[in-house]
Amino acid sequence: MTTRIAKQKTPGDLLKAVQEKTKVNLNVCYQCKKCSIGCPVADQAESPPSEIIRRLQLGAGDELLQTGLIWTCLSCETCYARCPNQINFAAVVDALKSLAVEKGVADPQGDAPLFNRLFLNAVESYGRAYDLQVIALYKLGTGSLKQDVDKFPAMLKKGKMAILPPSGADKGRIRRIFKKAAQNKGTKA
Ligand code: SF4
Ligand code: SF4
Repeated sequence: MTTRIAKQKTPGDLLKAVQEKTKVNLNVCYQCKKCSIGCPVADQAESPPSEIIRRLQLGAGDELLQTGLIWTCLSCETCYARCPNQINFAAVVDALKSLAVEKGVADPQGDAPLFNRLFLNAVESYGRAYDLQVIALYKLGTGSLKQDVDKFPAMLKKGKMAILPPSGADKGRIRRIFKKAAQNKGTKA
């Protein structure tokens, strides 16, 4: 299916902001769509990767930060691997996500930013993901207390989830990474 994307009458500055954050030149994209064809979540996205790039090229503004793909992207980098022009679209998604948070733009699909924040908080605290804590806080935050609880015993039994927090990670090193990232963003750690 062909999607027509109109050039914005009053172009936004999102392309510049994304390129500054990523150092990725999006102007070399010639819309071959190999990224979108390989993306495992593109068929559920309102705008697949190639379309997001085209919208940026045509002067998209902050409305693009509402697009769902920036929260459902798996960071698998298949788009990057398939691109004949070495466009790192996964980095573009990270930049869009970061801009959405900086600008306080809500995710129209709901609770992904909360999950994202809880996951990163756990990694910062324990040096690794602590699934049980992340899920418990996510359920409290979203009110989805009963969702999937029936799967919990089987996950525990199969060792897919642990009761105790993870140990053994180099927490000091992980915290230094978070601190550096916060400094790079110009925010306090
Ligand atoms: S990194 Fe994200 S956008 Fe790229 S192919 Fe994977 S899921 Fe799709
Ligand atoms: S694969 Fe690369 S050149 Fe092709 S549409 Fe995607 S980003 Fe553009």
